[in-house]
Amino acid sequence: MTLFYAMQEGGILYLPSYSLTIVEDGQPSRVYVGELGPADEDPKGPEAFLKVLADYYGSNIFGVLMTTSWGAYEARDLDILDDLGLVYSSFRCDIDGDDRTFFRMRNGRWRSVDAIRPFAAFNEYFERNRRLFRLIEAKFAPRISRGIWEGTSAEVQLEPLLDEATISLGEYYDSPPAECDVCTIPLSDERYISDASLRGHGVWATMCGDCTVYHGAGIGWGTGQLYRKESDGRWLMVAGGGPQREEGVEQ
Ligand SMILES: [Zn+2]
Repeated sequence: MTLFYAMQEGGILYLPSYSLTIVEDGQPSRVYVGELGPADEDPKGPEAFLKVLADYYGSNIFGVLMTTSWGAYEARDLDILDDLGLVYSSFRCDIDGDDRTFFRMRNGRWRSVDAIRPFAAFNEYFERNRRLFRLIEAKFAPRISRGIWEGTSAEVQLEPLLDEATISLGEYYDSPPAECDVCTIPLSDERYISDASLRGHGVWATMCGDCTVYHGAGIGWGTGQLYRKESDGRWLMVAGGGPQREEGVEQ
């Protein structure tokens, strides 16, 4: 949730951190700061998000959202940080008049480093992993409304749309793209995907189940077609079929 909150206005202040100022003779002489930053330089993408969702929340996005009811703290936060390539670390700034000297704690020792700007480490992680942040924004932002989280799975929301007349057409989406056009997760793991108009844009996109619900203009002739993955791995059109063809289907 921290990664989501960090993208909201003023959200950088949601980043857990600490600072401790040592004052001697009424003057600050040293500041210690703890901050969140990258553990390594490996980029993290949608697969890292999906793995965290699967490993810690049974692939149920509601499990993540529910943590916000007790401040989004998790006993497993440190493990999740590891999996997302994040780490908390401390740096120190020694103050002598106008001089500032910086040190970072690495392997249990303070090591001299160049001047450190607050939040620069997190920004570095953000810049390297923009795709991951775009995914988190696409997944979480539409599920909050006036402080209430919507945790219903996309599948549950899409199932009532299934339409026998469309299913009986036996039409398939033969070669959809590998990834959702909106949030970029792999489509191969989805139960439902759509080829539909984007809400407020008019352009069409191939979307995962979540994005179909929260970013699509709806399923119907002229706005979008819904497809379900069948046991043979093919994508069968299950809603939004054309009206001309429906007329040809005998009841
Ligand atoms: Zn998506």
